[in-house]
Amino acid sequence: MVRRFTIIPADDPAQALRIRRFLMAAQSYLIWIVLACYGYVRGLTSITLKTLCFWLSLVVLANIVQYAILRTGYNKRFKDPSLTVGQMMVGLFFGLVVAYYADAARGAMLLVFIAVFIFGMFRLQVRQFMYLSMFVVIMYAGVIFALVRFKPGQFNLTVELLALTVLGVVLIWFSFIGGYINRLRENVIKANNELSRAMGTIAELAIHDDLTQVFNRRHFFTILQREKSLCDRGQSAFSLCMIDLDHFKRINDTHGHMMGDTVLKAIAQCIQDNIRSVDYIARYGGEEFALVLAYPDILDALKCAERIRQLCGALAFEGLPESLHVTISMGVAQYVPEESIDELIRRADAALYRAKAGGRNRVEYLAAWSVQDRS
Ligand code: GH3
Ligand code: MG
Ligand code: MG
Repeated sequence: MVRRFTIIPADDPAQALRIRRFLMAAQSYLIWIVLACYGYVRGLTSITLKTLCFWLSLVVLANIVQYAILRTGYNKRFKDPSLTVGQMMVGLFFGLVVAYYADAARGAMLLVFIAVFIFGMFRLQVRQFMYLSMFVVIMYAGVIFALVRFKPGQFNLTVELLALTVLGVVLIWFSFIGGYINRLRENVIKANNELSRAMGTIAELAIHDDLTQVFNRRHFFTILQREKSLCDRGQSAFSLCMIDLDHFKRINDTHGHMMGDTVLKAIAQCIQDNIRSVDYIARYGGEEFALVLAYPDILDALKCAERIRQLCGALAFEGLPESLHVTISMGVAQYVPEESIDELIRRADAALYRAKAGGRNRVEYLAAWSVQDRS
């Protein structure tokens, strides 16, 4: 498949954000190109046309190179793939060039450095800001040196040195503010991540049963409703299987409530481990579980129920005599499209009742017509 080229990548949100940020900076360069041309045409600077063209070509080239690095993904090889420091250094360098040629407007041009520093506000730490401040101050001192060397008498050295001092102080001050804002941003990101994790945990807790860790009754009804909708649209078929532990009260009475809990957990785990990922188990109430078995054929659902019954009956429990087994009774009913969930549960319950009445430790099935016949 031939992929169409897009200025901003569509399949990589992080890269897209970086390129969008770069394009914002590129727009600023464009404004500066226009301003520089205006300054030249109006004779506000002593720059020659040749030198102006040289610097403007360099600005365009620098932007093309930066874009190519970002768009090809080469930036990902760097420790900070946003290349913020690199992009800022390019901006600051051109700011220094502007300052050199700005002559009378040099003082005003110092604002460019602040504009570039704002770009780093959401990314850089105080230390990185400090290095950049040092870079600007040293380079600006270089500009003054160049002025002394190449434009003697065309500027006021005292004013320039004062400007350099103010620039240094402002940038250092900005470094702290910028670093502080970056820290705030990092804290917000951290808090957001923790919140998302907490929301995830809460969402999990809301649908699971505390003791057995299988789905709880509330979520069971959500699942049933979803399966019913799918089935009503002819997209699937399922059976409901109600499970009740046999003579469970005796376990509690003989071995204690804690032992009873252990048994409940083990049975739930055993069932969970022996159904497919498309089937569901939920704790319906005390010692009752419900299964949604997504088999199109009721015979397969019954086979599955029977297998689970045998597995549970053979389970041994930690802390209980090996000879002690807990059996389960199961009532199965297949969902008939358009019937209500209440009706389905009533049928599965009736089948379970039949299993209990028939001597427990068995699977019973009740077809839709059996209930209609009874009523
Ligand atoms: P049957 O075969 O007729 O179902 O008999 P049974 O003893 O299992 O039924 P019964 O309804 O008389 O007793 C259910 C018992 O399940 C009583 C209750 O204390 C116990 N039970 C319900 N929930 C829990 C629980 O979370 N932990 C423990 N340990 N026991 C529970
Ligand atoms: Mg019961
Ligand atoms: Mg019971």
